[in-house]
Amino acid sequence: MWKYDINSSLEIKQEGKKYIILWQHPLTGEFRKCEAEPYQLLALKIVSDDLDIKELSVEEGVHPQYFYKILLAAERDGLLIKKESLIKRGDTVFENAWFPSDIYKVADVFVLQWHITNRCNYSCLHCYNDLSVPELTLDQAFYILDSFYDFCNLMGVHGQISFTGGNPFLYPYFFDVYYKAFTLGFSLAILGNPVEEDELKKVG
Ligand code: SF4
Repeated sequence: MWKYDINSSLEIKQEGKKYIILWQHPLTGEFRKCEAEPYQLLALKIVSDDLDIKELSVEEGVHPQYFYKILLAAERDGLLIKKESLIKRGDTVFENAWFPSDIYKVADVFVLQWHITNRCNYSCLHCYNDLSVPELTLDQAFYILDSFYDFCNLMGVHGQISFTGGNPFLYPYFFDVYYKAFTLGFSLAILGNPVEEDELKKVG
């Protein structure tokens, strides 16, 4: 997941019961001053204390997406600055490649396209799915999610999971896995076959 630094120009002053923040926005260069909103103070605390969102959400009984939104809002305010991810195209492999800008050498998002099942409700002639491959247990699927979460945290990159198959809706634990992936803060997509509207509403 994305890692942040606190804007180095930021100052916080206490005036009575209020906290006043002053900073220069990193994109516009504009100087700003305002009374700190609770979400801004929380975002600054999360970053300054390097709190883990997964643990924080368990401690506070609050959905992790709440904290991710707070961090994004503070980044938009210019209070936080996203750290560059550690996933980069190496100069040795792309020595002679031309890039219009160095930003294209760094991945901001890492996508896991996850073939979670080979089960399918179609039988296309060209299909290469192998139904003899054993399916993951729920514990194994959760282990993969936790490992992917740790990987994204380590590399400072936002994770996206695209569930596919076969038809991912036919994986017996699909909704458990999808919900856990959502609570971990990943962006999610489903690359499957058409399903009934009621099924779609479960992931809506
Ligand atoms: S997995 Fe795709 S290609 Fe294979 S049978 Fe299902 S729909 Fe067809």
